[in-house]
Amino acid sequence: NAAVEELVTPPVKISYTQHLINGQFVDSASGNCRTFPAYDPRTEKVIAHVAEADAEDVDRAVKAARKAFDEGPWPKMTAYERSLILLRFADLVDKHRDELAALETWNNGKPYEQAAKAELPSLARLFRYYAGWADKIHGMTMPADGHHHVQTLHEPIGVAGQIIPWNFPLIMFAWKVGPALACGNTIVLKTAEQTPLTALYAGKLFQEAGLPPGVLNIVSGYGPTAGAALASHMDVDKLAFTGSTETGKVVLQLAANSNLKPVTLELGGKSPFIVCEDANVDKAVELAHFALFFNQGQCCCAGSRTYVHERVYDEFVEKAKARALRRVVGDPFRKGVEQGPQIDSEQFKKVLRYIKSGVESDAKLECGGDRFGSRGYFVQPTVFSNVQDDMLIAQDEIFGPVQSILKFKDLKEVIQRSNTTRYGLAAGVFTQNIDTANTLSRGLRAGTVWVNCFDVFDAAIPFGGYKMSGIGREKGIYSLHNYLQVKAVVTPLKNP
Ligand code: ADP
Repeated sequence: NAAVEELVTPPVKISYTQHLINGQFVDSASGNCRTFPAYDPRTEKVIAHVAEADAEDVDRAVKAARKAFDEGPWPKMTAYERSLILLRFADLVDKHRDELAALETWNNGKPYEQAAKAELPSLARLFRYYAGWADKIHGMTMPADGHHHVQTLHEPIGVAGQIIPWNFPLIMFAWKVGPALACGNTIVLKTAEQTPLTALYAGKLFQEAGLPPGVLNIVSGYGPTAGAALASHMDVDKLAFTGSTETGKVVLQLAANSNLKPVTLELGGKSPFIVCEDANVDKAVELAHFALFFNQGQCCCAGSRTYVHERVYDEFVEKAKARALRRVVGDPFRKGVEQGPQIDSEQFKKVLRYIKSGVESDAKLECGGDRFGSRGYFVQPTVFSNVQDDMLIAQDEIFGPVQSILKFKDLKEVIQRSNTTRYGLAAGVFTQNIDTANTLSRGLRAGTVWVNCFDVFDAAIPFGGYKMSGIGREKGIYSLHNYLQVKAVVTPLKNP
């Protein structure tokens, strides 16, 4: 516990807490400059008071985005000029990597090393990837019956409303903003109320990179107020949302009941991680551990149902427990710490409730099971074995450091059990047999199947869910379709 008692002072200061609207940092119009608190999940203490948007602020942001879209200069710039701004932003992200990573850790609780060495480089990489697309977006010409010249124009869709969650604040910012800007849209983005700080910093860097005012507007605030105002705004042309399945249904309805804006959703998951009988158990344990515990277990695609073949089950459980006991929990600013606190009191209590439900449902608690230390939202790495499909811990998204291990006998059975869920976001397969890998990858109903790897998030790889895990794909070429309209232009040919 010592590590949690003596906390490192974050090596960064909080400079941006107002909304970014039309290129200016501004207070809330609503509620007489109303603010809400941002917390340090290590201490449960307030670290900043952040402008809190309501419908009026969202409307101001949408007006700025509308004007920037309708009057330019953004859509009138050449695609190459837009691409250069994205590249300049990526360079600034590299330059300010340490401050951004420190701010992310301070407000979110994720290990600083993870933020600085993995997430920030992937943020810059993603913007460079989409900078590459900006000047390669174009339509087609096609032969049509009759004497007509037919062409398609791929045009930006307009003002994009984007609502993001708290588990990867900057990465989610990138997945939304990168493709939308590459296609020439303007944006109003609402961050999660738990983690408003890093997107505002990134917004400042975008101004520095030369992004014209009003192209990227960022508002902070709560879901049912600011989020709902954005989802139901009549002048927002497209909505992209990442969050829980429950809220996904709400925003889809808000979009439908207002102006029928198209919606992409990236929602919850309960992803299987399947360890086959031929697996090298030590390697499988390590990968399954990573698949679940990464980011405090707060990943929509976490491998949260660890299916292990009966031949290797006992050895796997023993080693998975030993690995979880070795997991280093503590102040996420300290070197070598693998696990920081959960995001907030609500999530912390929810994870502990699920652990209690696991114990009550007769799963075997192998290790963990309680809070870690006496302050902050730290939870002990927890492993349950003997988990059955119908238990709550095998069905619900826990979003915490709780591994559930289930036993299986054959491939047909494990495919069927893996697919018996309302979710279909991702799956992990661990085997040395190519036929087994192929059978599983084709049989699993999930948007991503990682074979002998997990959480590989290259900018080029599409990500999204089957079933109630979402609608549409983000990243890669697929994300461009979300932010483009296709216009068919047909003209008669005088002299065919
Ligand atoms: P979580 O349960 O992980 O916090 P949510 O789906 O509630 O996930 O939150 C994800 C994002 O959706 C956040 O930015 C949140 O503010 C926003 N949100 C929550 N409720 C609504 C709502 N009714 N309308 C629009 N956005 C919402």
